[in-house]
Amino acid sequence: MKKSILIFIIILSVFLCSCGNLDTVNKNNNSIKKEIFAMDTVMQLTVNGENAADAVRAAEQEINRLERLFSTSLVDSEVWAVNTNGKATLSDDSAELIKASQTINHDTNGAFDITIYPLVKLWGFHDKNFRVPSQDEIDENLKLFGSDKLVFDENTNELSFNESNMAIDFGGIAKGYTSERIINIFKDYGIESAVISLGGNVQTLGHKPDSSEWSVGIQDPDDNTNLIGTIKATDLAVITSGGYQRFFEEGDTKYHHILDPKTGKPANNGLKSVSIVCDNGTLADGLSTSLFVMGTEKAIEYWKNHHENFDTVLITDDDKIIVTSGLAELFSSNYDYEIVEY
Ligand code: AMP
Ligand code: MG
Repeated sequence: MKKSILIFIIILSVFLCSCGNLDTVNKNNNSIKKEIFAMDTVMQLTVNGENAADAVRAAEQEINRLERLFSTSLVDSEVWAVNTNGKATLSDDSAELIKASQTINHDTNGAFDITIYPLVKLWGFHDKNFRVPSQDEIDENLKLFGSDKLVFDENTNELSFNESNMAIDFGGIAKGYTSERIINIFKDYGIESAVISLGGNVQTLGHKPDSSEWSVGIQDPDDNTNLIGTIKATDLAVITSGGYQRFFEEGDTKYHHILDPKTGKPANNGLKSVSIVCDNGTLADGLSTSLFVMGTEKAIEYWKNHHENFDTVLITDDDKIIVTSGLAELFSSNYDYEIVEY
């Protein structure tokens, strides 16, 4: 009797484990929802179409492959190798990210800079051993900093640092690159309807199965159960950077994870969050971090000079919602908001 109960429990657990693999599968309309934990975040993939199961499997492999390249902490990742040895020959994916990061660094006048990693570590954001460093420590680490000290050979993909102890971090751009890669994989599998969220960073493909548009919520920075608005998004990335996403508190002060390269401290330039909307996930991710660092006025000025490439929703420290004009028809909200024109 006891033996049969044991066998029943084993069969039941095997059954439950195998069910947990694909979270929701709707065989009738080939719709799959899958949740994955990777890159230190929860990712949700919703895919509709005949090849949805294969497409999701391929996407998951791709996420794991990219994490093994871009992670700062996984021993033997490409980023780990270059940070440890001061040089490495990169894969084409990491090379793409270096090139995109350097372009954004240049265009944003240094607001975005992947050589920020020594400072990310100094504040403990890499391993959650948070602490407020002294000004001397910040100054020492700022000396290591600067994308102009990266040497990258586009022919050989070799990256090196021209100062020892430098280190890079793709944390501000890798998820956008990953979401773009996933959408491209879905397209390769003939998928025409999908939405993915990588820790709240969303990219959409086509429409919902009922032909209506995907709607992407913009989170209230002060209340993670509330949305300040939604964006109708077809074939678009909607990527948000906000101080509320990762922070620690000491005394009465909150210290968040987006650092201002000018000060080596958490950016404190008047914004609670920045959402970037455009068709290029990598650019959207890089710019969300950059505009958050720039602050309200410079962010709006930057948008005016580059309005053909992206749109943005800014939430200011005094709770103003500022929406750029390309979103006039796509953004809706129960709150007051201001639309800026270029
Ligand atoms: P995001 O959430 O896309 O804004 O990215 C924030 C992450 O990017 C941080 O956790 C750091 O790993 C990294 N980071 C912080 N400040 C910067 C910066 N100024 N430029 C580039 N990357 C940064
Ligand atoms: Mg970013």
